[in-house]
Amino acid sequence: MQKSGTCLCCAVTLDIANAPDTTGACHCGMCRKWSGGVYLGLHVKAGDATITGANNISTYISSDWAERCFCATCGTNLFYRVTAPGPMQGDMHVALGLLNDPTGITLTEEIFIDRKPDAYALAGDHKRMTEAETLAMFAEIS
Ligand SMILES: [Zn+2]
Ligand SMILES: [Zn+2]
Repeated sequence: MQKSGTCLCCAVTLDIANAPDTTGACHCGMCRKWSGGVYLGLHVKAGDATITGANNISTYISSDWAERCFCATCGTNLFYRVTAPGPMQGDMHVALGLLNDPTGITLTEEIFIDRKPDAYALAGDHKRMTEAETLAMFAEIS
């Protein structure tokens, strides 16, 4: 499906072709601090997102394998992008919260579940992976 989203000040717009109808939550310490809570991302393949206002984007290199991009004006977190060479390079995890119409998207997995703060829990029957399970999965697909 086609989805579009903006940051809070609308300086940055994303138009996403082939947007997934599923989302995943990451409870790792980096996503927690970056998002200020729980990070919900849409896995968007490299090339499926058209960005308008890219000159307003600031980038924080958060690890050897990924960067985190945010609006330099309003501070909205936009997406996590894989920089490491391999089949996932360039893939983005676009913040669900950016979408102008976030309906029709189902939560299908939570990763780093053993890092989740006690203060909240996401309801529903979906896959939940511990840090060890998550890292093993990444090792397999990268
Ligand atoms: Zn903005
Ligand atoms: Zn994370």
